[in-house]
Amino acid sequence: MFNCHIHTRFSSDCDMDIKEAIDVSKKMGIGIIVTDHMDLGLYDDGRFTFNVDEFFKEYQQYRNEKLLLGIEIGMRNDYEIENRKIAKGYPFDYVLGSVHTVNGYDIFYDEYYSDKNKKMAYEEYFEFMLKCLKTHDFIDCLGHIDYIARYGRYDDREIYYEEYREYIDEVLKFAAKKGISIEVNTRRFNDREAYLNLLKIYKRFKELGGETVTIGSDSHRASDIEKGLKEACEMVKAANLIPVYYKERKVVEYKI
Ligand SMILES: [Zn+2]
Ligand SMILES: [Zn+2]
Repeated sequence: MFNCHIHTRFSSDCDMDIKEAIDVSKKMGIGIIVTDHMDLGLYDDGRFTFNVDEFFKEYQQYRNEKLLLGIEIGMRNDYEIENRKIAKGYPFDYVLGSVHTVNGYDIFYDEYYSDKNKKMAYEEYFEFMLKCLKTHDFIDCLGHIDYIARYGRYDDREIYYEEYREYIDEVLKFAAKKGISIEVNTRRFNDREAYLNLLKIYKRFKELGGETVTIGSDSHRASDIEKGLKEACEMVKAANLIPVYYKERKVVEYKI
């Protein structure tokens, strides 16, 4: 199998050495894709961006069938041109598109939520995700569709498919139509309720014509690389989707 979402020290919130990730992947007998953060426009001081030339210069020596080089692009429609330039201008294996900000607000922080109830905050999040997908249809895969459920400032942060059906369906339909994969991100899989709510979303993706998913643990530490991968495989099977990774921007199916 392939873990398609791993950060290393080119990400501002991570100091893992690529060699540690390689060691774990060898021990587990899995492939990995390094996807460091590129969130243009997020901070003036360059946090959460990295020098792509340096990235390739340093990591090219480790690249092989089991170690691929990708990027996690923070999608926002005011940086569409710049993001496209990076995705197309470098020889990445894989481009993962994620929503980390909504209309200029980093949803990791309080400010986005301060004047919104949960319904408003979550609807705006999914609406923005759809907008970003439309302007970033060059990505291979949509990252962590449930990102807001990690950080929402509400007693119950969970995303219930039924409550946001009309918004989520549009996102899933668009991805299916464009052949964009959806990521099975394992970060919240220690919460059984989160797992079951997400399963509904992946099953719906299949119903709406979606076919392929990547699996990623979004790990920032070596000890987290294998977290949730077993559950992710169960999820993919239960939703009857095809697990894939990307090499030289081309989709590769694999068996689990
Ligand atoms: Zn992310
Ligand atoms: Zn990530």
